[in-house]
Amino acid sequence: MDKQKIELIASQDRGAVLHPFTNLKDFASGKLGDPTIVESGKGIRITDATGREYIDGFAGLYCTNIGYGRTEVADAIARQAHKLAYYHTYAAHTTDELARLSDRLVKMAPGKMSKVFYGLSGSDANETQAKLVWYYNNLRGLPKKKKIITRDRGYHGCSVIAGSMTGMSFYHDYMDLPVAGILRTGVPHHYWGAEPGESELQFSERRARELEEMILREGPDTIGGFIAEPVLGTGGITPPPAGYWPAIQAVLKKYDILLIADEVITGFGRTGAMFGCDKYAIEPDLITVAKGLTSAYAPLSAAIVGEKVYKVMEDGADTVGAFSHGYTYSGHPIGVAAANAVLDIVEREDIPGHVAKVGEYFQKSMQETFGSLPIVGEVRGVGMMAAIEFVADPATKKRLDPALKVGARISKAARDRGLIARAMPHGEILGFAPPLVTTREEIDQIIDIAHKAVISVLDELKV
Ligand code: PLP
Repeated sequence: MDKQKIELIASQDRGAVLHPFTNLKDFASGKLGDPTIVESGKGIRITDATGREYIDGFAGLYCTNIGYGRTEVADAIARQAHKLAYYHTYAAHTTDELARLSDRLVKMAPGKMSKVFYGLSGSDANETQAKLVWYYNNLRGLPKKKKIITRDRGYHGCSVIAGSMTGMSFYHDYMDLPVAGILRTGVPHHYWGAEPGESELQFSERRARELEEMILREGPDTIGGFIAEPVLGTGGITPPPAGYWPAIQAVLKKYDILLIADEVITGFGRTGAMFGCDKYAIEPDLITVAKGLTSAYAPLSAAIVGEKVYKVMEDGADTVGAFSHGYTYSGHPIGVAAANAVLDIVEREDIPGHVAKVGEYFQKSMQETFGSLPIVGEVRGVGMMAAIEFVADPATKKRLDPALKVGARISKAARDRGLIARAMPHGEILGFAPPLVTTREEIDQIIDIAHKAVISVLDELKV
């Protein structure tokens, strides 16, 4: 793209786009530099308007799972757009692709699933899940059983209820969140949360005890649901400690509390299993999917509803009539066509199997490369998601001075060298979530650049 065009786009953008998660003043004043104009993508790489290529070590926002430039998906979208760009799904209207997608999701999803409700983002799907928890308990004659428990550092989106269920305060500040009725329990992160000498199992049991104590304190008849990511994502890419999920699920079952598995990141292969629930033997009542469902080729999300919940909803029709929830774009044909084309690839190429193999190599290389550096406290991950947590002193777990902005500086140093790795918003953490089709050779390239970036900042810090 020529210089003049780039300047025009930059000025139009600066003048009119309200960018998410961007310091508005720094952007407006030019302190953040010009926007990066992303022009094209192929495989695991994107190219900007100046012709610079980056390895996308975060798959956009953990979503371009099958990589960029898969023409098979683009063709499916085009075919659908030519045939029927839109029709709604209200009052029992459907399309062939929608029926096929729903049937395959119900069959492939873990647990006993029954129906699929569609939205456009992870946030709106979680919004739906909260309403389903309330609807279900109203229909059962349990109008008090409405509170939803979430976890510190959980991420479930930015809309009003999903944002309230997100367990990081900076997503709430100045936005009047969280709303009432959302409770927060402890994060399952052994490295930071364990007492001295406490094993992972003991720590998990303590987290489950704390959950039970909260339920008893509030009254079990007031708690409707528990929402969690199988592997904590935006809160720091943190796999659960040993024994966590069995202990938590036992408590939820005991008090008749619905489990919403937020599989927005983990769904469709990221952990090396098709779903995070498969990986950790989680039996959810409701499942949220988005991102990998279409590999971000089109916006689409889904709230997958389990048999137990759906049965109550169907029986309730005698009382309430129609299920009064839906969006103009629920089951939009373009997103649905993209999802079917993407899932064809996920199944044909056995993406979860590929992640299981290459992910093991990725995790091992991460440990070997970064594990013993003098500012690395923990290297963690599963499948194709990993994080490095930086601390001032690994022996004492002394935290780095936030003013040093170590995570952000390392992320920038990686970017300057052609790798996108994300400075996670909570703590001094560098996160990786490359496309699931990344090869071993590409993993080597990612790790090599990340290593150079870490060393460059170590040199600046004179550690
Ligand atoms: N749930 C999880 C686990 C996520 O990681 C995200 C986004 O990162 C969301 C929900 C929200 O999805 P969206 O940004 O599409 O609203």
